[in-house]
Amino acid sequence: MSNPGNSELLLRHKVTSKPGLTKREFLRFCGASFCVLSSAYLIGYPEPSGAQAAKKGLIKTKLSPYFTSLEGGEIQCELCPHRCRVSKGKRGICRVRENRDGKYYSLVYGNPCAVHLDPIEKKPLFHVLPGTTSFSLATAGCNFQCKFCQNWEISQAFPEDVYSYEVPPDVMVKKAKEIGARSMAYTYVEPTIFYEYMFDIGQLTRREGLLNVTHSNGFVNPGPLKNLCKVLDAANIDLKGFTENFYRELCAGELNPVLETLRTLKKEKVHLEITNLVIPTKNDDMSVLKEMCLWIKRELGADTPIHFSRFYPLYKLKSLPPTPVSTLEKAREAASSAGLEYVYVGNIPGHAGENTFCPKCKKMIIQRTGYMVGEIRLKDGKCKYCGKPIPGIWT
Ligand code: SF4
Repeated sequence: MSNPGNSELLLRHKVTSKPGLTKREFLRFCGASFCVLSSAYLIGYPEPSGAQAAKKGLIKTKLSPYFTSLEGGEIQCELCPHRCRVSKGKRGICRVRENRDGKYYSLVYGNPCAVHLDPIEKKPLFHVLPGTTSFSLATAGCNFQCKFCQNWEISQAFPEDVYSYEVPPDVMVKKAKEIGARSMAYTYVEPTIFYEYMFDIGQLTRREGLLNVTHSNGFVNPGPLKNLCKVLDAANIDLKGFTENFYRELCAGELNPVLETLRTLKKEKVHLEITNLVIPTKNDDMSVLKEMCLWIKRELGADTPIHFSRFYPLYKLKSLPPTPVSTLEKAREAASSAGLEYVYVGNIPGHAGENTFCPKCKKMIIQRTGYMVGEIRLKDGKCKYCGKPIPGIWT
């Protein structure tokens, strides 16, 4: 998932300049209206110097619509495939849902710990309103424990341990409109764990004419997912590997439910893109990557965009090297030879694999450098050279 630390903020935090852009480019991109830049890198612990101070320990509850009552006051959460059984006073794996007297509550409703204005290319969503910004938010918590998580300070935290804000859904949407975002993005951690907050914001966002997009690990049960699809326009789903072993060992998750989520999103006509973070020695076997791409083509369609993203050593995988560029290029070739039509490489600003090429006439139709978008050569959602329809949301 993209990291929240590198873009304009709703409320004044410290933030780094964006990788791949010069500081000048970053400022031009953002408008820099109330952005504070520094070399510090803080995501879960913003400095409370803005209009609203971040506070530690905020807890706002909301009754979950997805749990089953069991005997003795125990409950079973029905939101994600972990299906946690939780006794009174305890929490589920994601740390942000608690059994209070036999009822199950979200503890993070209206308390985001990260709120940023990002280029939509950062999600990454390359086929959704290119060159626009997405108002992006997260709370503490996650239902995975990825050893390579780039946002572990917030994803693996209890809500009491992070600095967060009080931002009700209507205020969030108002801010997004004021700042000129074209979409709201639920991202940085697994958004399923703040489902109630996401859904309420999503309904208001739709009414205001903005899109709802998410970057998710796809680990959500079909019922809540189908309900979410009522307000969801686009999703980038991490397909982190293509073996159960990878998901079990490195994420404390499972592969099959993620594949089911991908099928459901396709069926529900939510625009879908996929990200695969290629980690040296862990999931860079080209035969497995090819098998994954053939599955995507067969189950989701050749026109599903896929992003092969470069890994950098962090969190619990610091001993591994960054992904060699040649590995990402091989993955790109494997995906193209499997028949996928829109194959991108990520985290290598300036690489040709950031651009969109028409699968029919092979001409470049969207030019990108990092998160900067150059010329867009589309007319009414079609290649301006040969007229081939290009999947996505373009207006
Ligand atoms: S959403 Fe949280 S509490 Fe519910 S099943 Fe998943 S990890 Fe467990």
